[in-house]
Amino acid sequence: MRLRCPGARAPQHRTARPSTERITSSMAARFLFLFDFDETLINENSDNSVVRAAPFQKLPEALSKNHQPRFFLEHSQQIMKFLSESGVAEDAIRAAIQQIPASPGGAVLLNFLLAREDFECVIVSDANSYFIETWLRHAGAHKLFTKVFTNPAEFNTNGRLVLRPFHSHSCPKCPENMCKQAILREYVSKRAKERGEPFRKVFYIGDGENDICPTLALGQNDTVFPRRGFPMHKIIQDLHKTQPGMYKPSVVPWDRGEDVVDFLKKVLQEK
Ligand SMILES: [Mg+2]
Ligand SMILES: [Zn+2]
Repeated sequence: MRLRCPGARAPQHRTARPSTERITSSMAARFLFLFDFDETLINENSDNSVVRAAPFQKLPEALSKNHQPRFFLEHSQQIMKFLSESGVAEDAIRAAIQQIPASPGGAVLLNFLLAREDFECVIVSDANSYFIETWLRHAGAHKLFTKVFTNPAEFNTNGRLVLRPFHSHSCPKCPENMCKQAILREYVSKRAKERGEPFRKVFYIGDGENDICPTLALGQNDTVFPRRGFPMHKIIQDLHKTQPGMYKPSVVPWDRGEDVVDFLKKVLQEK
């Protein structure tokens, strides 16, 4: 299947394989591939993108300044409150999300994974279910992902998108609503039981500070793809310097999806 360009109109007839086939084939997948969403799968932060639907395409000053990584969900909530109070309806929010471009080479990577049965792909994101599902469906990429771990979101009767925290956890490093390591650990062990064996390797692609915690649970056999020059990459470089040997997974920085595909092709050739 071919991914459509963001902004393209939905085709009349979908030619993709039925989703049940993908789920069945994922039972045979040798590798688990976890994706972050903002600035990894998409080339923007979706909270910034949705502001295009706002009057004058900007936030009030108080809201645009108030942005701390540990309170990402609260910040998103305030943006959605501002949009609904400004009379921005679901149609405009949906359109703003659909127009977000994929990261460079993103379609190449997703098509590579879709064309093979070796990879079980999931999303782990501190964005929200409405943004992610809207974007994936528009891009024709939703069939690739067997699971999306994110904050649940729903429009209320006033037309406001209400976001709820994904879970609670005891990790002191992560935002209150989401520790991606807790999600990764739980999913990996659940799937190992269901499959009767663990995944051969785990891959993790991300860009942000909150993508570090999950990768600390990975081993030497696993690979992390940090977006080159983004916070995740810088933190890993610091860890390598300050605590040599502490960070276990291999690290393959990426600028484009093709960088990841090149690496995966080599992995598939290994016996
Ligand atoms: Mg991100
Ligand atoms: Zn954590």
